[in-house]
Amino acid sequence: MNSNQSGTLYIVATPIGNLGDMVPRAVETLQSVSVIACEDTRHSKKLLDHFSIDKPCVAYHDHADKKSSYKILKRLGAGDDIALISDAGTPLISDPGYRLVSEARKQGYSVVPIPGACAAISALSVSGLPTDSFRFIGFLPAKSSSRKTSLVEFKAGTETIVCYEAPHRIVDTISDMIDVLGGDRPSFMAREMTKKFETYLHGSLAELLEQVSTDSNQQRGEIVLVVGGATGTTDLISVDAEKIISLLMKELPLTKAASVTAKITGGDKKQLYNLALSLQNK
Ligand code: SAM
Repeated sequence: MNSNQSGTLYIVATPIGNLGDMVPRAVETLQSVSVIACEDTRHSKKLLDHFSIDKPCVAYHDHADKKSSYKILKRLGAGDDIALISDAGTPLISDPGYRLVSEARKQGYSVVPIPGACAAISALSVSGLPTDSFRFIGFLPAKSSSRKTSLVEFKAGTETIVCYEAPHRIVDTISDMIDVLGGDRPSFMAREMTKKFETYLHGSLAELLEQVSTDSNQQRGEIVLVVGGATGTTDLISVDAEKIISLLMKELPLTKAASVTAKITGGDKKQLYNLALSLQNK
């Protein structure tokens, strides 16, 4: 407990499949708190029963009414220690908890992590792709057109991209990635990590699509996609330059559109001309 007698909010990671990955300090913490806030109380009951943790549970979701976070914060204020867990992995990482943690911090409560599994970091760590700089983008939009718009935003980034994807969308998402990022980017897919059907695939995006679309087993279970960042000169044309040239080429000859865009963005005139040609032929 804090010196001011308030309770501590513990953000406790739980396994992403294999219960053997539950860290001892997570068990100790869950056994010691007054109440456990869960994404889904019924789901978490199995985990808690497995570790003989018999504590009151309350449901917490960021979209739930404000009352549930208010009640949790009030209990912290009264001196109760509280743990937040999600269905699997690290809370707040594409999981509930952001509002609660942000409000608890604003109100000066102590918030402490009990680190453990996280699917994004686990996949990245075995992907063989650069890990010095990466961008975690959570789930891409479900609709193809919105997904492509999001991907355009990431196209020029040189950092590795890590995202979560649902199995029934995996083929479409890889196809959209090829359309926007090109088929040559190195990629990696981690499926069902730590579980019975754990599978790792790697290759260019085009090769990954071939492997996944021809094997329905690869379209099942939980999936993390890891994609290499921009390296080629075409990739490095900024998203702004692409937007500018696509507007200018409607009004000007391609050579002129390319040279004006080069002046505005500092980009390479020849590369921009080639880009204009490819846009014109789409
Ligand atoms: N907070 C969790 C974490 O720290 O990993 C992620 C929660 S998010 C709602 C669930 C997504 O994580 C799944 O749809 C999948 O993309 C990914 N995921 C979770 N467990 C996984 C596993 N065992 N193998 C592969 N991907 C997994």
